[in-house]
Amino acid sequence: MAKNPQEQKMQNVVSLCRRKAFIFQSSEIYGGLNGCWDYGPLGVELKKNIKAAWWQDMVTSRNDVEGVDCSILMNARVWEASGHVKSFTDPMVDCTKCKGRFRADHITNNQCPTCGTKDQFTEVRHFNLMFKTFVGALEDSSSTTFLRPETCQGIFANFDNVISTCRVKVPFGIAQIGKAFRNEINPRNFTFRSREFEQMEMEFFTRPEEADKWFEYWKDFRYNWYLKYGLKKERLHLRPHATDELAHYAAGCADIEYDFPFGRAELEGIANRTDYDLKRHSEFSGKDLSYFDPTDNKRFTPFVIEPSAGADRATLAFLVDAYEEEAERTVLRFHPKLAPIKVAFFPLVNKEGMPELAEKLTFACKKRWNSFYDDKGAIGRRYRRQDEAGTPFCVTVDGETMTSQTVTMRERDSMKQERIAVDQVMPYLEKQLNGD
Ligand code: ATP
Repeated sequence: MAKNPQEQKMQNVVSLCRRKAFIFQSSEIYGGLNGCWDYGPLGVELKKNIKAAWWQDMVTSRNDVEGVDCSILMNARVWEASGHVKSFTDPMVDCTKCKGRFRADHITNNQCPTCGTKDQFTEVRHFNLMFKTFVGALEDSSSTTFLRPETCQGIFANFDNVISTCRVKVPFGIAQIGKAFRNEINPRNFTFRSREFEQMEMEFFTRPEEADKWFEYWKDFRYNWYLKYGLKKERLHLRPHATDELAHYAAGCADIEYDFPFGRAELEGIANRTDYDLKRHSEFSGKDLSYFDPTDNKRFTPFVIEPSAGADRATLAFLVDAYEEEAERTVLRFHPKLAPIKVAFFPLVNKEGMPELAEKLTFACKKRWNSFYDDKGAIGRRYRRQDEAGTPFCVTVDGETMTSQTVTMRERDSMKQERIAVDQVMPYLEKQLNGD
């Protein structure tokens, strides 16, 4: 059956990711592992740039957010306090005809999405999404713990450590980027729903009466963050949750959603988690996690505003958003800050000192940016290869370079070429790549 244009686009993006070494299936030579993905040489640069942009904007450039990097394995009591042991479950049903397993709340008209059979489902069963493991030599209940299903609990568990060592004052935030694991019943849509993924989370602690104000602030800040790095506004949506969608402890929640080729779906959630987490951890650990504010001598348990984003979902959104097929080329129009390779250097021909100069420029630039040298094939083909990798600038060293000390600087989106002096290559790139 012919694919619709969006399905076709998704298929083309997936195959480009494989061909250009952005994303591979995990353990592919063994047939893969469902819900797990590996980032190749270009993908790792792209994802690293996205995480670095997040860290820069959420932590380093601010004076009210600190960073942490917590362990993936934590004391199992953490997951009792957080509520995950009891209720981090999906309601599942099996189709008795085709044996497919589905989220009960994703079934419409009681009809199997795979084989179409009606009214042939098992009773709803609840599956806990946490990966269980054992710490130490014994495999019994006393040594059981879980791979963390979210990074934020490490932040709550360190709230008191940060308060007592970092001279922070409410309102302030603690941020973390790291792996999370969920035994998703039905991983799908490429990396969108994976079993192993990375989160970029920040918990912002506020006075209860200021929580609404900060909730508005972070919704706005996070929505604009995606626009800043180039996602198209018409594909990006901020959707407030309906009251019946809210977690029982949340006072407000909104999702940032993106129109992926497979439909509109969540990129990030921003929630007002009230004082639920700190109170639960106080209760379960016996450690008082309230905060004393010396400005008015008041003691209270801070409310928490949490912007929680997925690094892999963001990477996928930036990939599909940047992807364009034109008559003569396929191009990834990444924001220069996110582009895996910033600049590529080509000698027009492999003689007359051109390769030597192009290589010299490549290594000079490599000290600052991920740069690439390519002397293979016709020059047009080399441009096309960099367009597919999303490289914003290409520099060609040609016959004229040797006489006039100038090179051709070619810009990816407009494909415009201009001659600039060899000694202006670095300042030009500096302005384009590092200017705000
Ligand atoms: P969904 O409803 O799509 O399962 P969620 O609401 O359970 O997501 P959260 O618990 O709010 O997700 O997690 C915060 C962020 O972590 C999500 O917005 C998403 O970007 C990312 N994330 C969550 N689950 C996955 C997954 N299985 N694969 C990739 N990223 C994920």
